[in-house]
Parts: sequence; C-alpha cells; structure tokens
Amino acid sequence: MAILVTGGAGYIGSIVSEALLEDGQAVVVLDNLSHGHAAAIPAGAKFVRGDVGDGEALDALFRQDRITGVIHLAAYIEVGESMRDPGKYLDNNFARPLALLAAMRRHGVRDFVLSSTAAVYGMPDATPIEENAPTRPINAYGSSKLMLETALAWQTRSHGLRYAALRYFNAAGATAERGERHQPESHLVPLVLEAAAGERPEIAIFGQDYATPDGTCIRDYIHVRDLAAAHLIALRRLREEPAPAPPEDAAAPSPPDLAARAYNLGNGRGFSVREVIAAAERVCGKKIPVRLAPRRPGDAPRLVAASAKMLAAGWRPQHTGLEEIIASAWRWKRSHAAHERPRS
Ligand code: UDP
Repeated sequence: MAILVTGGAGYIGSIVSEALLEDGQAVVVLDNLSHGHAAAIPAGAKFVRGDVGDGEALDALFRQDRITGVIHLAAYIEVGESMRDPGKYLDNNFARPLALLAAMRRHGVRDFVLSSTAAVYGMPDATPIEENAPTRPINAYGSSKLMLETALAWQTRSHGLRYAALRYFNAAGATAERGERHQPESHLVPLVLEAAAGERPEIAIFGQDYATPDGTCIRDYIHVRDLAAAHLIALRRLREEPAPAPPEDAAAPSPPDLAARAYNLGNGRGFSVREVIAAAERVCGKKIPVRLAPRRPGDAPRLVAASAKMLAAGWRPQHTGLEEIIASAWRWKRSHAAHERPRS
C-alpha cells in the first residue's frame, strides 16, 4: 500500500514525499522529469518515470504498488509562460490528469489531493481571500488548475471520488535536504537569492505602479514544509470522510461547489516584491541590485490567503516569518545548490 505522489521530483512534491515518509507512509513518485530532479526524490520512495497522461503506465503502477491515495502535483507552474502558450498549460495541467482520474476509477482509488493555486482567484475583490471568493483566473495557469478542480468536483458527484484542492499561495523556503531549483527559474525568492549570490547581475522588479503601498505586487509566502504538512492533513481527513453522499436530487440541480473542497494555504500576511528583496538583503547580509522592469502579464496586484479553514482542520504552520523562510532557502542554496549554478 502506498501513496502516489505525481511530480514528486519537483520542489514541493519532493518535500511532500519527504513528509509522508517521515510519517511512516509508503510513497511512489511518478514524474516525467521534464522539470523535476531525480536526485530530489527521497531515498525511501519508489520512483517511476512516466507521465500522468499515460493510462497504461498508470494501470501497471496502481496494480503493482497498491496505491491507496493520490497527491497530484505534476504540473507546469509559470504564470508568464502560461500567457505565451496557454495550450501547453491546459494540456498538461488539465487534460492529462483526466487519465489519472480515470485510472483511479478503474482501480477503486478514491482519495485525491490536488496541488491547486491562488491564481484561481484572479483579481480578488477583497483580501485576505477566503475559499468561497469568486474564481475568475486572469492567467492560463490559474484556469488550467480551476478546470481540473471542476473535473474533480464532477467526479466526486458522479463517482464518489473524495478530493481536497489545496490552493497554494507562494511556496518558498527549503528543508535541510530539499529546496527550490527550477530550470529555468522564474520565482521571486530563488531569483533574489541568485542575485544575492552573484549568480545573476540583478533581480528584475516586474511592475512598480500597482495599487499597493510601494507599487510592487504583494504575495503571501508560505514555508514549503508547512505546505507539505497540510497535504498530510488533507489526506487524513479524506480517509476519515464518510461514504460519499447519494446522487443529487434530480429535481433540484445545482452547480458543483468548488469552495467546499478547497483550502487556502498561506500565512495571511502579504509582502511586496520590494519587501522580499529587503528581507533577503537582511538574511544574506548584502545589497541586492535591482532593475525596474515592466509588469509581467497575468499578475494580480495582491494575493493574500485566509487560511482559517485549514487551521480549523488542525494545520499548525511552524515557520511563518518571511526572513525565516528566506533564511532556510539561503542555507539550502549554500549547502546544496552551489555545484549546480546556472552557467552565465
Ligand atoms: N517577480 C518579480 N521579478 C522576478 C520574478 C517575480 O518582480 O524576477 C514578482 C512577480 O511579478 C510576482 C511576485 O514576484 O508579483 C511573485 O512571483 P512568482 O513568480 O515568484 O510567484 P507567483 O505569484 O507568480 O506564483
């Protein structure tokens, strides 16, 4: 019996796998290594190289490893790229995982935790954002995740799937062994630290005229280990759920309620791009050169989570300070990533 972690060679997936193993649960990682790193997969996990859209490979895996639940993180994650190539995002983040859902159904696996995103909210009317806020994504990345949430909601209604959609705000930080290393890198914290380490000449600030106090975008940064812990709680709660509700009364049809199965994951405090850079300067003890750049298409000015729902489910984040989060990433970078610096 094992939990299937798709995207388990990636930044968050490898740390979710680490947390599951520490909790005594067996893990099978499925990853096509298009972006992940085989070296990031914890030694205690079984690794299968493959794609979530490959039904035959999934059948073999579900049979051999007696999968009892799925945590699905395999996805493309760059907002900017999703605006240049939306089809790539809809295919990989929405269409292909439908094969995974079909395989789950064939093998009678019911529990599914989705790595979703705050980008489903688009331009929120109010912050902090609650799960029942309107979902109106303004980038193809957010749309692709919302479409998968919708598919899950229908499967829940029709086939008794049990799922939780974890809407991540901005994951950052590292554990002792695992950290953030995308290729190419597009995320703020690792880029700022690359600039601090002299691996890139500067950090570009995308947009300085947003309606925020210093004009730069505000995000809610959450430590990746706290994020990982929430997956274990979500999975446990799915297992404890009673049998699925009977099919809906045909006389009173209603649309699927995505908010009911969504959990926002953030710390409830927002920091601007400039504040992140300033915090990194304090952590690293050096000045970080910046370049003022145009807005990045698809960026919302302010995304801050109301995480009361996951807190009520028993989640207790341990590393909530921005400097603490950045310091963990800096420590990891200096101890692990030095030999893989990007060539310039
Ligand atoms: N950002 C920036 N410069 C960069 C990378 C990101 O100013 O080189 C900004 C980006 O526009 C956004 C914030 O930093 O407002 C966080 O971006 P990131 O890509 O890390 O995460 P996202 O919020 O898109 O998931």
